[in-house]
Amino acid sequence: MKPIVALLGPPGSGKGTQAARLRDEHGFAALSTGDLLRAARAAGTELGRQASEYMDRGDLVPDDVIVAMVRDALADLDGRPVLLDGFPRTVAQADALAGVLADRGRELTAAVLIDVPDDVVVDRISGRHQDRDDDRPETVRDRLRVYHRQTEPLIDYYDARGLLRRVDGGQDADAVAAGVRAALG
Ligand code: ADP
Repeated sequence: MKPIVALLGPPGSGKGTQAARLRDEHGFAALSTGDLLRAARAAGTELGRQASEYMDRGDLVPDDVIVAMVRDALADLDGRPVLLDGFPRTVAQADALAGVLADRGRELTAAVLIDVPDDVVVDRISGRHQDRDDDRPETVRDRLRVYHRQTEPLIDYYDARGLLRRVDGGQDADAVAAGVRAALG
């Protein structure tokens, strides 16, 4: 069966960079909920309008909206290795993902945590070109709070299921990529 891998980690941990590498170097279909939401917003769809206010505050978009979006996207990816970037982000999303995958005869292969401390996240995002509205320092701190409160419980969730793999995200991108490859075997 083709693997399905979820990347976990705080904002600024480099999930997007690693997702792009796994796509380009290993043929994964990369599904980024943040990218899908930004595309919906740019296209001015109803979904984009709904999501906008949450994103601008650094809050999570409601689970039902996200799960419906991911369910649709996964319907086109049967038979392909899939990398989930930025999803799941809550325990409710993780439970829903298990159901969506079971309906398609699939299951999650691994959840790779790209581990980076908060001070590194704040330094990195304030140092990078801020072309995203939600990269303002106040919003980054809100996103970090949301990460700790709502997403971090997934570490124990996937650890308990034997699916968690940890990678030190404080290294340069090549070293992190090597860590991710090693974690996936
Ligand atoms: P980052 O990982 O740097 O925070 P993303 O591009 O993954 O950036 O997400 C940007 C924003 O999109 C989030 O702050 C949130 O508002 C929304 N979002 C993305 N993925 C999800 C998700 N799985 N559940 C809820 N909201 C999400």
